[in-house]
Amino acid sequence: MPLRMEHHHGETCPVARCDECSSAITDASLGMVAWDCDGRLYPLHKERCSFDFEDRHVGSHRSWSHFPWMGMEKVVSFLGWNVGIRHDSMRSMVEEAWI
Ligand SMILES: [Zn+2]
Repeated sequence: MPLRMEHHHGETCPVARCDECSSAITDASLGMVAWDCDGRLYPLHKERCSFDFEDRHVGSHRSWSHFPWMGMEKVVSFLGWNVGIRHDSMRSMVEEAWI
């Protein structure tokens, strides 16, 4: 499961794990989230792991066009927005994504 609760330094917190290399994505600017037609999410490190993800999926019965993607920062902002968190930074990211 790419998004999971984990224990770090005595605290429990949600962590996004890359679907390709399984390591934590700790810098949103270097992360992305692809999804398939069923809505399953695939958090990935941009470039470092997204190319391997592409190699695994393109050429099989799927094509890359079946995996739209969005930067990790926007996904997190959208999620926050959709659960009612309203910060100016989220508003600008959500608005920017829709333009
Ligand atoms: Zn990775």
